[in-house]
Amino acid sequence: MKYFTRRFSKFKALFVIIAKKLNAFNIVIIYGIVGALWIMLSDKVLSIFMSDPAKMVQISIYKGWFFVACTSLLLYILIDSSIKEINKSKNELRLSEERYRMVINNTTDGLWEWDIIEDKINIPSSLKKILSYEDEEISHKAAEFSDLIHPDEVIIVKEKIKRYLSGETPKLELEFRVKSKSLEYLWIQIRGQAIKDKVGNPVGVIGTVTDVNERKMTEVALTKTMKENERLLSEVIEYDKLRTEFITNISHEFRTPLNVILSVVQVLSIYEKKGNSTVDLNKINKYMKNVKQNCYRLLKLINNLIDVNRIDSGFFQLQMSNENIVEIVKQITNSVNDFVNIKQLKLTFSSNVKEKIIACDADKVERLMLNLISNSIKYTKLGGEIFIDIVDMGGVVKISVKDTGIGIEKDKIPIIFDRFRQVNTSLVKDSEGSGIGLYLVKSLVEMHNGEIKVISEPGVGTEFIVSFPVVLLSEKEMESIPRRTFTVNNDGVEKAEIEFSDIYVTQ
Ligand code: ADP
Repeated sequence: MKYFTRRFSKFKALFVIIAKKLNAFNIVIIYGIVGALWIMLSDKVLSIFMSDPAKMVQISIYKGWFFVACTSLLLYILIDSSIKEINKSKNELRLSEERYRMVINNTTDGLWEWDIIEDKINIPSSLKKILSYEDEEISHKAAEFSDLIHPDEVIIVKEKIKRYLSGETPKLELEFRVKSKSLEYLWIQIRGQAIKDKVGNPVGVIGTVTDVNERKMTEVALTKTMKENERLLSEVIEYDKLRTEFITNISHEFRTPLNVILSVVQVLSIYEKKGNSTVDLNKINKYMKNVKQNCYRLLKLINNLIDVNRIDSGFFQLQMSNENIVEIVKQITNSVNDFVNIKQLKLTFSSNVKEKIIACDADKVERLMLNLISNSIKYTKLGGEIFIDIVDMGGVVKISVKDTGIGIEKDKIPIIFDRFRQVNTSLVKDSEGSGIGLYLVKSLVEMHNGEIKVISEPGVGTEFIVSFPVVLLSEKEMESIPRRTFTVNNDGVEKAEIEFSDIYVTQ
């Protein structure tokens, strides 16, 4: 019995091996060969051994049964292996479907599809959800969908798709903004793969859409911060450069008048040694004038430096009161006559009103006007003209200081109001400066909520136009201010002397 079981199991194993190797085609071939041999040879072989026709009939019946059994077995193997194959494929399909569904369900991506021939675009529901559109609110025509793309990116997107479809680029991966229902533009990323026909022409594209708005917004904010930091850094570098230049310049500005004063002191001490008889009073007067001018120059420099510092640290306060601006400017103009005459200039004052009361700080207006006029004198050659003009325009009072001087080059105009900036220095031999004046003027005008403009042409002249808003302090506000009338007295003349101390006339 054991012998048979062993034999049978060996036979079964061989059968399983053969069955595994068999496929439908092999089975049909074997079946055909075996069947043909069986039909052709079996009767002939049997007739050799058997002569009894009755037995032959009996054996033919068994032979028939055997043939049917073999056919059934082969058919069984065929059907069984086919069913197993189908089940295996079904299982694999189900698994891959499940995997695919799992991926789709667990990602924010959606699948998009574009039928190029029909010009139809299948927009995934995830994208519609991001953009807050209902299905019927969004067009499925590719041409119309492009209307939702941000105007800055639509051409780039079309161009990149065109290049991908023509095979110029290997990958289709784009990031662009799309308009949502609330008219807000949101960043998405699309990836895609072309579907081609038999001859290789693209007939569609299929791919994924991802919401990348948060990442892009962070990127945009980071780029903005980086650019801002770069700008700040270059500003700091530029400021540092200016500061170094300024220190060099200001050291020279301090040294020059000090040297003059020192030379005078040295000359005077020589006189002292030589005794009273050699003293020439005219010469002494000239020396003293020189010392005074250079002391004023030092004083101007120090005053300006202190004021710039006060303005920068926010400690510069205006003492506002209602004043007649026409009178203030007129008196300042009168106080500079001596300086104008020294340089043989012609100064003309005009105004379309006699009186215009506005709230201002008279001292600061005087300071800024002296600064503008001193620049006009400084940068106008002997024999030139200066015009000071006031125009009352109702809500604004405009004061213009115009000269026929050397002018300012166009590219230098934007920097003349910057702290420590000086231009034209090589052109002006008879004047000195620290480059603080116009920064102070602009700061003072802006503290009055006013504006300053400059019009200039090299070789023709320069015009500075200051506009003050016409506002008045209430009576109550005025009561709290100590009463005073603005007059340019000796003190005012001295102020002009200080302001004009850096003008040297070479005749
Ligand atoms: P500075 O003390 O050097 O005069 P400012 O700040 O007053 O400094 O002026 C800055 C620069 O503007 C000057 O160096 C000069 O080149 C130019 N500028 C100012 N006013 C005039 C003007 N009326 N004509 C020509 N250039 C001028």
